[in-house]
Amino acid sequence: MLVATPIGNLGDLSPRAVEALATAELICCEDTRRTGRLLLAAGIDGPALRRVDAHTETEAAADVVARVLTGATVAVVTDAGTPGVSDPGARLVRAVLDAGGEVTTVPGPVAAVAAVVASGLDTSRFTVDGFLPRKGPERAARLAELAVERRTVALYEAPDRVAATLADLAAACGDEREAVVARELTKLHEEHRRGSLAALAAGAAADPPRGEVVIVVGGAPAAGAGGDDDVRIALRAARDRGLGPGRAAAEVAAALGRSRRDVYALALADGDEPGADEADGGDPDGDDPDGTADASERTATDADATSDPHAGGTR
Ligand code: SAM
Repeated sequence: MLVATPIGNLGDLSPRAVEALATAELICCEDTRRTGRLLLAAGIDGPALRRVDAHTETEAAADVVARVLTGATVAVVTDAGTPGVSDPGARLVRAVLDAGGEVTTVPGPVAAVAAVVASGLDTSRFTVDGFLPRKGPERAARLAELAVERRTVALYEAPDRVAATLADLAAACGDEREAVVARELTKLHEEHRRGSLAALAAGAAADPPRGEVVIVVGGAPAAGAGGDDDVRIALRAARDRGLGPGRAAAEVAAALGRSRRDVYALALADGDEPGADEADGGDPDGDDPDGTADASERTATDADATSDPHAGGTR
């Protein structure tokens, strides 16, 4: 049973969570001392605690599965929030299900969801993207994806990296993209800094946020609304991922609802070499006169041919 625990405010431990933890035969947790303190505060005494963190989850799975198959209830908690959300849990769930066991949950706090719903940004479609890769091509690729992501995105980040990540987000998504830095949610010093990515980056550099932080980034402009500046930003991000002008134009056109030919023309006007197009398969001057008819099909093909930074990942 996956049991959500507070992200800072003990009052958010639900009565169902207390009951589940009090009656479990074993509680798997990331840090036995931390969870021990939670149990003490909730007046729970009895269940055995076993440390299961990101490094030991796979190795612990066999024992957890064996217990579940004998009918025992094993509770899984993490240091804060919901197990499996940028936290251990998913591998235990998979192992129990694969062995024919049952998995249930006591839902509760998720920092990313709390940040999104209070952000004032569009909540009709959002994604929890966890932590960005720290550096290298993986980070560049993820930032490039975010540049054209239409949904609101919630990112976890360590406080000392918030300013740098906001600056990288501004470079990838554009200075003016709306965002919120949600800090210390549910705690005494809860704060929501709202503004453009550039303004938030400058603010975080001058006054680094302390405590725990979620960054919420508004989605890229909707189809048809992408002006030339949005196209240029998305093209730059696609170029950073190593796409040539043809593929970049197809992808950006599909994402922003623009004509592929217009986007390709902008790419060339901004200095891309048309010759590179042959290598990446783009064909903006092909049979499709306005370049929009097969944009989604081409993008799907391109996506298959492009390395997927999420493939096999643990987000
Ligand atoms: N499983 C957790 C959840 O359900 O939200 C997330 C775990 S992840 C390892 C920890 C990150 O969540 C922190 O680095 C921070 O970005 C975010 N976080 C956790 N508690 C928070 C809080 N009270 N306020 C803001 N962000 C928080």
